[in-house]
Amino acid sequence: MALHIVRHPLVEDVLAALRARVTPCDVFRQLARRATRDLALAETWVETPLERAAVKRLGSRVVAVPVLRAGLGMLDAFLELVPSAQVGYFGLERNEETAVARRYYEKVPKDLEGAVVFLLDPMLATGGSAAMAIDGLRGLGAKQVRLLSIVAAPEGVAHLEKVAPDSLIFTAALDRALNDKKYILPGLGDFGDRLFGT
Ligand code: URA
Repeated sequence: MALHIVRHPLVEDVLAALRARVTPCDVFRQLARRATRDLALAETWVETPLERAAVKRLGSRVVAVPVLRAGLGMLDAFLELVPSAQVGYFGLERNEETAVARRYYEKVPKDLEGAVVFLLDPMLATGGSAAMAIDGLRGLGAKQVRLLSIVAAPEGVAHLEKVAPDSLIFTAALDRALNDKKYILPGLGDFGDRLFGT
């Protein structure tokens, strides 16, 4: 599995503001869009006649699948980049006691074979929900899933390495660790709560 940490001064700057607890939710929304825009520009691949190449133009059928609800914060920015993308949704909820994800909603375009599938999930913590979503996408024919996150924990990366080694992860930051409630440290708190002001 390939882990790509997007290093760019603008990403660093946006990330610093996203992390700050004083950032209000409207600013957080704008920042999430900006962070995603910078992420999404960095990450697609094609086979040229000679070798695999990183490109910035998306040519294949693209499917974006935000994980509800935090992933919605990345969707607008993604669609600005790829307006023709189809959009599917996974509703995954993590149990606050056990941190285990439960799927409560799924509406994803069928037949993902041949599509480039981007899973939008800003916080890669334990990797449990990302693994569940990747498994569901594979079941619909996706060959390789590209996970776009904003902050990742080493535990989540290690888990995906084990259960979804053919996936690609793009993130703006690989943070230190998870706390005992499975939140990322230093992280930025609960992305969904901060995005929606709950
Ligand atoms: N989900 C979040 O929103 N934040 C974390 O730190 C971990 C999971």
